[in-house]
Amino acid sequence: MAGTRTFSIIKPDATKRNLTGAVTKMLEEAGLRVVASKRIHMSRDQAEGFYAVHKERPFFGELVDFMISGPVVVQVLEGENAMQRNRDIMGATNSADAAPGTIRKELAESIEANTVHGSDSDENAAIEIAYFFDEDEIVG
Ligand code: ADP
Ligand code: MG
Repeated sequence: MAGTRTFSIIKPDATKRNLTGAVTKMLEEAGLRVVASKRIHMSRDQAEGFYAVHKERPFFGELVDFMISGPVVVQVLEGENAMQRNRDIMGATNSADAAPGTIRKELAESIEANTVHGSDSDENAAIEIAYFFDEDEIVG
């Protein structure tokens, strides 16, 4: 494997605006390789399970509603220090605070509709990849 892997979601605000390619281009230009990708419409159960870590936060209900409001593209990204590299190109959670040139600064609509998800540790990346992909769906 070339480097390490992380997990990404292109969120409903982006698929709705036809930005799957624009987001993927920014990921690729940041040195990440898409080694698995599929477009899905998450069920409520699937979204609640994925975001279970946030279930006590006040925005949990709205976040789940948003994540099932349209299709998403789930991806496995590979590269050197993939998790951190992806977090860097994503930018801050609140697009208003994100650095110029990051996906969220350039493309996000709001703190919630912020275009992309990215794993926040290698441990969580492995858990999140396994939540959506079988190993034989990932081709490096
Ligand atoms: P990140 O996606 O940058 O890792 P978090 O894990 O803290 O951020 O939050 C998960 C997602 O929840 C965010 O990407 C965003 O869509 C949503 N979110 C975070 N904070 C808020 C908030 N204060 N209000 C509404 N939605 C939020
Ligand atoms: Mg997070």
